[in-house]
Amino acid sequence: MTKRVAVITGGASGIGRETSLKFTKKGDRVVVADFNEELGNETVEMIRSAGGEAIFIKTDVSNHEDVTSLVEKTVEEYGRIDIMFNNAGIGSPTPVLDMNMDAYHRIININQHGVAYGIIAAAKKMKELNIKGVIINTTSVFGVLASPNTFAYHATKGAVNMMTKSAALELAPYGIRVVGIAPGVVDTPIIQGYKDHGIIDSMKAKVMGNKLTQPKQLANAVYLLSLEEADAINGSVVMADEGYASFK
Ligand code: NAD
Repeated sequence: MTKRVAVITGGASGIGRETSLKFTKKGDRVVVADFNEELGNETVEMIRSAGGEAIFIKTDVSNHEDVTSLVEKTVEEYGRIDIMFNNAGIGSPTPVLDMNMDAYHRIININQHGVAYGIIAAAKKMKELNIKGVIINTTSVFGVLASPNTFAYHATKGAVNMMTKSAALELAPYGIRVVGIAPGVVDTPIIQGYKDHGIIDSMKAKVMGNKLTQPKQLANAVYLLSLEEADAINGSVVMADEGYASFK
């Protein structure tokens, strides 16, 4: 049986690393894409020492050419692309009344444009190769619920939700699915910047069980969404937030 090929952006850390480990443990081949070369190669080493198959391709998702070339190189190396997990992202506080415009543009370029470039490049390649693949985009509870001091991050995740739906509609005739996955509060380095603002404690208190979600839990959810058995799930943003967005 042909092994599936998954490209995972942000695969050097947190949710992306655990998802790379999960897919390879299940027998898929993974391209770990990240701008952090050291940690990206570390993920690949972890995969190989567990008997899995992966390569690292240094990629800045905010650079359109980088993302297009990532997809091209994936196909050169493995001959196909079945799963594109547009997951790389950053978060830093962006309060409206004290806005740092460099921080604002940086988040938009990575979290929003980076996902757009990934959707476009993967969709074109899957259609060209006649592959009924799946594109999974990491969004957030902050794509549907507002919190103070995170203005730009909200903008990006709201955009990812609607890009997911719009692309799903257009790509359905080709058998390509597009879904979003929305974590709540996951124990990864990205949340460090929010700890000082008290945002994490207040978020955690709203999660059933008052705990941080572990990156492995997200990896499991992403894997489930990638399966053919999940083919009725399309254009949806699936909450993987331990109830965060479901109750007051
Ligand atoms: P993380 O910091 O552990 O991982 C993010 C990865 O993205 C890092 O490896 C980083 O190097 C990479 N990255 C950042 N900018 C990049 C760029 N321009 N090009 C390539 N790679 C880049 O954080 P995480 O929690 O695993 O985040 C993954 C995704 O999950 C993000 O999109 C984030 O917004 C989303 N998310 C996280 C949480 C949470 O609580 N951790 C909640 C909701 C959504």
